[in-house]
Amino acid sequence: MLSQVESQMSEAGIEFDAGRLLLLQKYVSLLITANAKSNLTAIKDEAGIWDQLVLRSMRFHPIISSLKGDSRVIDVGTGAGIPGIIFAIMYPDMRVTMIDATGKKIRFVSEAIDALGISNSRAIQGRAEQIGRHPDHREHYDLAIARAVGSLTELAEILIPLVVPRRGRAAALKGADIDQEFKDASRASAEVGAPNPSTLVVATPGSSDGDNLIIWDKIRPTPRAYPRRDGVPHKSPLFGQHHVGTRT
Ligand code: SAH
Repeated sequence: MLSQVESQMSEAGIEFDAGRLLLLQKYVSLLITANAKSNLTAIKDEAGIWDQLVLRSMRFHPIISSLKGDSRVIDVGTGAGIPGIIFAIMYPDMRVTMIDATGKKIRFVSEAIDALGISNSRAIQGRAEQIGRHPDHREHYDLAIARAVGSLTELAEILIPLVVPRRGRAAALKGADIDQEFKDASRASAEVGAPNPSTLVVATPGSSDGDNLIIWDKIRPTPRAYPRRDGVPHKSPLFGQHHVGTRT
């Protein structure tokens, strides 16, 4: 399994040293064990975890690898640590914060961080709407990312407040057909400081499917009104357009 993953990554131009690959394998084992006791992800088997969680996380690799070594990254709605923990393992100088609303998921991520000894990362339980208003986190990160969390409009409102104006970026993944959702989300992101998102076609190592990585460059501070209260970005998306968040 590991050598196949390694060769798929290296074909995609992603190199790992052996130590990092072993940590990744250890994380996969920890997740399998924890998942058997409490439901952390829908994917339970080892092959599925490598394909659906680890390799698919690599679609963020183009933007992560463009960061300076010691950048600050926040993964919103990390669940069992996807994709945050993968990049914390790959990039030991990067400072990775993972947040999730669900206590048991954050407890697992914290235990995994300790077991793996990846002191460049931390896990915090909380909702993005509140963390995005907290002075320790608001406009603090170089990059905010999320996978399988919500619609682009919702993500724009919860991710963009977390990143530094004029330098920070936010990024999310979507499948191929995103035209209308992209347009609606652009209006929302303009409201919170990032008017002109761009898209990059990205692939999962070992697969030819292309997905869209949506990237927001934050050019001005987020107005105080955002993010709105818990659950509002989801229930009443900015400008009233409702799109379902898909699990890409
Ligand atoms: N990113 C992970 C988990 C996706 S499931 C993966 O790709 O596997 C979505 C997760 O987002 C859930 O764990 C849920 O608790 C969390 N979530 C959704 N909205 C949130 C919010 N506003 N703030 C914090 N966590 C949120």
